[in-house]
Formats: sequence, structure tokens, C-alpha cells
Amino acid sequence: MNFLEEKILKDGIVKSGNVLKVDSFLNHQMDISLIEEIAKEFKRRFGAQPISKVLTIEASGIGIAAFVAKEFGVPMVFAKKSKSINLDGEMFVAEVESFTHKNKNQIVVSKKFLGEGERVLIIDDFLANGCALQGLISIVEAAGAMVVGCGIVIEKGFQYGGRAIRNMGYHVESLAIVDAMDSETGSIVFRNQENT
Ligand code: 5GP
Repeated sequence: MNFLEEKILKDGIVKSGNVLKVDSFLNHQMDISLIEEIAKEFKRRFGAQPISKVLTIEASGIGIAAFVAKEFGVPMVFAKKSKSINLDGEMFVAEVESFTHKNKNQIVVSKKFLGEGERVLIIDDFLANGCALQGLISIVEAAGAMVVGCGIVIEKGFQYGGRAIRNMGYHVESLAIVDAMDSETGSIVFRNQENT
């Protein structure tokens, strides 16, 4: 069991509706030593390839992606959620349905901050049905940049996003993959990733 899985078992709370609450250490209060360790682990997994930018989505990806960008010594850009349809052509846009809030948002990245030929590492806190990741991937590709990989802190392996995005040929690394969880007993079962 890795450091993150231990932390999830200790402090994560399984809610109904397939939601894992990790707000005591990841996406409300943040355990900075843990985030540093997470960033180092992404550097270990993706460090063999050149990366020119880290991309994430607001809000909960930002803190994590900032530490990852520091590890790689590159800028971090976050996609903004925008209700406005009044876009001036200066933005890359994708539509994303929120798993937790069940609403649709446009996400936007300024064309100033993502350009042709960039090598992008996408980072997010969770991977569930993959909408957030697919939106970010489509923005990178619209920019003529390349998705080097997707680093996810917690993947819910019983939802289809991870499989769908790997089947599209993207390199997805998830530091913890939850294969099953039960809100009544609180139990959480992780996928064995010993060889990664
Ligand atoms: P997806 O787009 O893959 O369906 O969902 C990913 C996004 O939804 C993540 O950016 C994350 O913010 C949120 N999310 C999905 N599942 C969970 C969950 O179980 N717990 C929490 N805290 N956030 C989740």
C-alpha cells in the first residue's frame, strides 16, 4: 500500500452516490507534505519525457498542479470554469459536465498561455467519468500542443473515465485507484499497482 492509499484509508470518507470525500487533506484543507510527496511521485512517473507546461482545472486541481509544476520547473496553467458565452476568440473552450455538481460548465484557457508544440502534463485530483480530463485534452489538442500524460491523484476505477481515456491511447497514471467502495461500511478497495 502506498503513502496515498494509507492516507485515504485513514482520513477519506465514503459518501453515498459514489463520492469519496478527501477534504481533510486534499481538496479543502490541504496536507502540504502529502501534496509534495504526490508531486514527487508524478515527477518520478513522468520525468523521463520533456514537459513544458502543467495544465489543470479549477478549483481543486490548482494546489496539486502548482507543486507538480515546481517539480518540473515549468509554468502551471489552470482552465477556468466560465458561465459566460461571450467569448472573444482569444480562448480555447471545452464543455465539461461536473460529476460532483451535475451541472455543465464551459472551461476556458487563454490562447496566450497554451501554444503549438507545447508538451503538456495534465493533472487533476479525481478521475471519475473522465469529462474533466476529456475537456482538458481537447483544449491541449485545439492548441496544437501534445498531451504527454495525465497524472491523477485518485481514480475511481469502477467508473468508466480511466478506461475510456487509456483506450484513446493517452498515458494515464493514477496514484491510487479505488476499485470498490461502500458508503454503508466505509470500506475502500484499491487496485494492486505494485509494478508501477
Ligand atoms: P469526471 O469529470 O472524471 O467525471 O470527474 C472529475 C472531477 O469531478 C474532478 O475534477 C473532481 O473535482 C470531481 N470528482 C469526481 N469524483 C469525485 C469524488 O469522488 N470525490 C471528490 N471529492 N471529487 C470528485
